[in-house]
Amino acid sequence: MVDLRRQYEHIRQDIDQAVIDVIRSTQYINGPEVKAFQKELESYLGVKHVIPCANGTDALQVSMMALGLKPGDEVITTSFTFVATVEVIALLGLTPVLVDVDPDTCNMDPEAFRKAITSKTKAVVPVHLFGQSAHMESILEIANEHGLFVIEDNAQAIGAEYIFSDGQRKMTGNLGHIGCTSFFPSKNLGCYGDGGAVFTNDDALAQKLRVIVNHGMEVRYYHDSIGVNSRLDSIQAAILRIKLRHLDQYAAARRKAAAYYDRAFAGQPGLTIPYRSDYSTHVFHQYTLKTSGIDRFKLQEYLTEKNIPAMVYYPVPMHMQKAYHDPRYKAGDFPVTEALSQRVISLPMHTELDEEQLHYITDNVLSFFNQKT
Ligand SMILES: *Cc1c(COP(=O)(O)O)cnc(C)c1O
Repeated sequence: MVDLRRQYEHIRQDIDQAVIDVIRSTQYINGPEVKAFQKELESYLGVKHVIPCANGTDALQVSMMALGLKPGDEVITTSFTFVATVEVIALLGLTPVLVDVDPDTCNMDPEAFRKAITSKTKAVVPVHLFGQSAHMESILEIANEHGLFVIEDNAQAIGAEYIFSDGQRKMTGNLGHIGCTSFFPSKNLGCYGDGGAVFTNDDALAQKLRVIVNHGMEVRYYHDSIGVNSRLDSIQAAILRIKLRHLDQYAAARRKAAAYYDRAFAGQPGLTIPYRSDYSTHVFHQYTLKTSGIDRFKLQEYLTEKNIPAMVYYPVPMHMQKAYHDPRYKAGDFPVTEALSQRVISLPMHTELDEEQLHYITDNVLSFFNQKT
């Protein structure tokens, strides 16, 4: 699905040097590379504070801790997401409240969000799935009306821009109270291990976050609050500094591959190409097709035989997962999510796809349909 080797080959000299420099410096934890990356990411996103941490799941967890959410508080998110979003809500003893998504973007349906608000609701976590922003203007307005915190799960959309109706643009992750991201290797800005970060423009919140990721410790060995141990290590920070310089060019390469796919599949019955909203740029973390009238696992099998990986993100909605079974929810409650989970399939998407590969992939997808009819 991703070609990290070829990407590395293009930046090998810089990466190798940066890694060796950190090893020789012996400043492996909280070294100058971490601080430098933090500053560079702040400037890239236009956000006041970046707090690096160990992974994207921790980013979500420490955000909810810093906002002072308490057991019993309700946090609204969508049923069509990666499990981490719902997992941390449950781990903190908060109540996950799930809502349906928009059939075009696969992102939170703002009206479904509005309807799910109760007197216990404290926060909402819109997920910018597959590389495109949720409808943040509506979500922010509704959250504001009800005094709710907005935590953006930006693990799949770093580098995307939200376009407000007045034309103003802002990076995703910098729209709500807190933004979270992941630097997992296959993410759009990926390191060579685990990593994550939290963003905020609120000074007090940033201070709380820095204390929480460091064992609740402001003065060494004095613990005023319960925290966690969640750090981005210096080697990963050094790698991320180099990859951040290429992030916009990487997004352009992903868009170019997506445009090739689009052209090939535009007229194909049984396939719907990814929707582009007019309020967000798309950084194509995934290129996700919606199928109809076919068994997409047959298509996946067919492609696998031709050495083409294809994945289903995500086959089971959160309200249908055993671990998150909740008597409030049953099959049929989130019809859009359930239909999507039965219809989507994602094709290889990364920064190194060349015309020959794209031709081979699209040819084989189309020949699957031709052999059927
Ligand atoms: C990857 C991902 C996460 C978790 O990130 P990790 O670094 O793997 O912990 C959270 N939310 C979404 C939507 C993701 O895609």
